[in-house]
Amino acid sequence: MACLFHKWDGCKCSKCGKIRDEQHNFIQLEGQCKQKCSVCDKVIIKHGNFSPVPENCLEKCDVCGETRQGNHEWECDFYYEHDRTTESAGYRKCARCKVLITFGFAEYVARKAYNDIVIEKYAPEEKREEMKQEAKGLTLEEIGEKAKKILPPDMPWGY
Ligand SMILES: [Zn+2]
Ligand SMILES: [Zn+2]
Ligand SMILES: [Zn+2]
Ligand SMILES: [Zn+2]
Repeated sequence: MACLFHKWDGCKCSKCGKIRDEQHNFIQLEGQCKQKCSVCDKVIIKHGNFSPVPENCLEKCDVCGETRQGNHEWECDFYYEHDRTTESAGYRKCARCKVLITFGFAEYVARKAYNDIVIEKYAPEEKREEMKQEAKGLTLEEIGEKAKKILPPDMPWGY
């Protein structure tokens, strides 16, 4: 019989035994990146610290060894074919793992505007080189957020 009003004790109703997906009592499983609720046995993944594996641009969990994508070291940014209809107007290539990411003309222009106008004209001179390097690793959305903070209010960033 289901209760009209459950009496929750953590994730479980102490009257009818129904489980809800909140207030679990997670216990860390030794040597694994898993935590298990001592009441309902729900298991969640909680990785430890991820350390960089620099040779292949991955990061590895110190506990279970699972890997995920880490930071690339971008080189040769802003290649541009003079055909404006091409989908891949620019690319970034990683010097370490050789991954090649291409992007279209609109993104090429936005990135170039960020470098040539936002950084060159409005960022502090001593920070410009560093900011251009950083921009290679940012998404277009992140670049937009930064541009909005750097540009004067009467010159909004948009695309
Ligand atoms: Zn109940
Ligand atoms: Zn539980
Ligand atoms: Zn892990
Ligand atoms: Zn890489």
